[in-house]
Amino acid sequence: MANPLYDTLFAKHAGSDKPFLILADSQITYAEFLAMAAQTANALSQLGLAPGDRVAVQVVKSPQMLALYAACAQAGVIFLPLNTAYTANELAYFIENSGAKLVVCDGARLDEMQAIAAPLGATLRTLNADGTGSLSDLAAEQPTEFETVARDGEDLAAFLYTSGTTGRSKGAMLTQNNLLSNAQTLVKYWHFTGDDVLLHALPIFHTHGLFVATNIMLAVGGSMIFLPKFDLEAVIAHLPRATSMMGVPTFYTRLLGDGRFTGDLVSHFRLFISGSAPLLAETHVQFETRTGHRILERYGMTETNMNTSNPYKGDRRAGTVGLPLPDVELKITDPETGTTLPQGQIGIIEVRGPNVFKGYWQMPEKTAAELREDGFFITGDLAQMDADGYVTIVGRAKDLIISGGFNIYPKEIELVLDEQPGVLESAVIGVPHPDFGEGVVAVLVPQAGAELDLAAIETAAAQALAKFKLPKRYVVLGSLPRNTMGKVQKAALRSDYATSFSA
Ligand code: ATP
Ligand code: MG
Repeated sequence: MANPLYDTLFAKHAGSDKPFLILADSQITYAEFLAMAAQTANALSQLGLAPGDRVAVQVVKSPQMLALYAACAQAGVIFLPLNTAYTANELAYFIENSGAKLVVCDGARLDEMQAIAAPLGATLRTLNADGTGSLSDLAAEQPTEFETVARDGEDLAAFLYTSGTTGRSKGAMLTQNNLLSNAQTLVKYWHFTGDDVLLHALPIFHTHGLFVATNIMLAVGGSMIFLPKFDLEAVIAHLPRATSMMGVPTFYTRLLGDGRFTGDLVSHFRLFISGSAPLLAETHVQFETRTGHRILERYGMTETNMNTSNPYKGDRRAGTVGLPLPDVELKITDPETGTTLPQGQIGIIEVRGPNVFKGYWQMPEKTAAELREDGFFITGDLAQMDADGYVTIVGRAKDLIISGGFNIYPKEIELVLDEQPGVLESAVIGVPHPDFGEGVVAVLVPQAGAELDLAAIETAAAQALAKFKLPKRYVVLGSLPRNTMGKVQKAALRSDYATSFSA
């Protein structure tokens, strides 16, 4: 094949009048989408982009942004989508780090981006949420045919920066084969077909909305109800037309919080999938009680796409991320020695397979430390596997607390605290302690209007947990700091409460 990614996901839909994107008051067929992509690919070559060059894209979700992804695949250019929440300062790092030749931004940010892009020698073009902008103007003048640039499956297709939950974001280098193999595995595992209509309310700068959701629908030729973001009104209005949805856990808790979300509304649904952050077992149970559907939870990351999933037909176990995917080798290893641990013990998840990335862009030391020579990637996630192979994530290695020589898994304490009257959610962190190395701090968020009885909570925690695990300080906050993917930013909490136990 001349260009596996483009040929497999895009070219095969040439001439199809089937809707690919269903928008608020219009739709875009596959044929129309491919014409947009070809025009954009022509625009990229007009701007001097050659195969292997990088295009950094920080724009609001739109069909044109997706067409830019397709155009990059067709032109052999590396697509580099960036979180819309990033500030100018953060963007300067990504643009410099990636050496992007072209930067595409929203018109509203043109001035501040000019100040960043120009000194770095990058060309700047705009693309607005409504599809207008200087890149679109250039594309509109171009022919709707483009000669696909030949690429090898091992060539890089995208740089995707990690969410930056545990530190500075890293640019994961993903090949065409990385993306394709995972999409093809997931299509089979989750039984997607061209009849599926996926409700798409995720951002498309992240692996979840871009490579999991979009690539799967392209692979099968299905349709996506393409919403700019998760807006409860719009989601509820579109659910009757959709057959499947992929979301982060907050999508599901928000739906459950709305009385209009009933079993009848989704009785026709085929599949609800959750990932990117832990889905509480309680949400899983409430969702099943309300709708009769068991949410299918899966686990993945920027560097590897998807690693595990609960089964489509078999037992979907609440609180677990399911089984390793068919072509993913997964082992749980000792963080110190790297040796595989016996079943049931907590250790680091390591994965190997065609889904695993090629390393972090321009971070050879970090790459060498996390990507073993034998191909196993050390994910940094702590988990245990049960006798049937189901994986339960217990947290991140960086969040592990070592107090008085004991390992403390924050999640175990959070599960106890979350059950206490009036507690909406909690985050448990370790911060320096003069006697114990680290001391446990519990951050509690009360339910709306609730007054927390901290003495009662301490007593309940003391009954449920060994003494060395008990929080030595409780803090009450209105909300937890989260990034745009809904992940709790524990590093921020650790720095806020760093001096909790200092003299
Ligand atoms: P950084 O690597 O920059 O600190 P990040 O790890 O949050 O950021 P992503 O690649 O977006 O960046 O997220 C992957 C991580 O998300 C996984 O390593 C895991 O910790 C978490 N995750 C994903 N799915 C699940 C899930 N179903 N349950 C629990 N955690 C999950
Ligand atoms: Mg990570």
